[in-house]
Amino acid sequence: MKALVYNGPRDVQVKEMPDAKIEKHTDVLVRITTTNICGSDLHMYEGRTGMEAGRILGHENMGEVIEVGKAVDRVKVGDMVCLPFNIGCGFCANCERGLSGYCLTVNPGSAGGAYGFAGMGPFSGGQAELLRVPYGDYNCLVLPEDAMEKENDYVMLSDILPTGYHATELAGVRAGESVVVYGAGPVGLMAATSAFIKGASEVFVVDMHKDRLALAEKIGAVAIDDTEGGGVKKILDLTGGQGADRGCECVGYQCCNMHGKEVPNLTMNNLVQSVKATGGIGVVGVFLPEDPGAADALAKEGKIAFDYGSFWFKGQHIANGQANVKAYNRSLCKLIHAGKTKPSMIISHELALDEAPAAYESFGKRADGWTKVILKPGK
Ligand code: NAD
Ligand code: ZN
Repeated sequence: MKALVYNGPRDVQVKEMPDAKIEKHTDVLVRITTTNICGSDLHMYEGRTGMEAGRILGHENMGEVIEVGKAVDRVKVGDMVCLPFNIGCGFCANCERGLSGYCLTVNPGSAGGAYGFAGMGPFSGGQAELLRVPYGDYNCLVLPEDAMEKENDYVMLSDILPTGYHATELAGVRAGESVVVYGAGPVGLMAATSAFIKGASEVFVVDMHKDRLALAEKIGAVAIDDTEGGGVKKILDLTGGQGADRGCECVGYQCCNMHGKEVPNLTMNNLVQSVKATGGIGVVGVFLPEDPGAADALAKEGKIAFDYGSFWFKGQHIANGQANVKAYNRSLCKLIHAGKTKPSMIISHELALDEAPAAYESFGKRADGWTKVILKPGK
């Protein structure tokens, strides 16, 4: 099968790999119809987290079931399925509590399992023609009859829509509240969407990219361009000096080549300043335990210069971590099916698998106009 293979930092390649196949009776084999490139793939691509050469990337996947193991009885050949990026067993103490991002069976003692991801088990990714899905009965979301028609919406259930929703859950967003979202990347845009789903009265989205901020406005949010700084002041001005009720961090540590210079990330401190006293902050942006590619010395050791004093003084609360996709994807699926939300509106590029290396390069530079790339291995 054809697959996108990680050779090393900023070096990915589409090549022939052995076909994915059923390895255990509980596996399902999926022919991938759509697979996305995620901001999280860039942690490996940009060399911030170590990954062995030869792994297939891709954790935002959907497709058609073409074979099921002997012990699979819910999922059937021919089903169209979206695959949560977390791989869970469904029966460990964490999966039973809905914490499928922290499955104790597939990757004990760490941050659960995921397809094609460093530090999250040995699983191959889905930027390929075929994907093996472990514990298939648990890890497949069977889609409704309009799966193909709305494929570009449903594929977002694998990660970014539930992750954006998770940010609002962690922050504690409730109807009528104001929410500030840092980052207008795919995850931030989905957090803004989720805040509106939950009935937020006002959503502010902060970024430096005009095209991404324009999408935030399309969702109904107030776009705050922080290119020249001053974003915090704008939010305070717009909230009567109090700050927003809730805040979502959807950037993570980035030492990215933003506008040609390396800019250490200050979003955590900006959030403390732009969320009201006693407000809640949800952090889904990834901060790595060690970050060899980071722009500053502290972050290289997995630490950030967090203003804990102001956070404490304001009596805020914070929650963070991987999204437990399965906790949200069924209800978000119904919203897509009912036409109440359309996450495909953020897609900027729909490409063939062969075009993935060039797409990684442009998306990795966060080049203008490259908001969300989806790949179609069958085309
Ligand atoms: P992305 O890199 O495309 O988007 C990040 C955005 O943040 C960019 O538009 C960038 O311009 C903006 N940004 C950078 N510094 C900023 C600053 N100081 N202030 C405001 N905006 C700033 O990535 P994405 O796909 O949207 O993902 C965002 C983060 O979420 C990544 O860290 C990703 O790994 C993480 N993520 C977490 C989970 C989870 O389960 N917790 C799942 C998916 C993605
Ligand atoms: Zn992702």
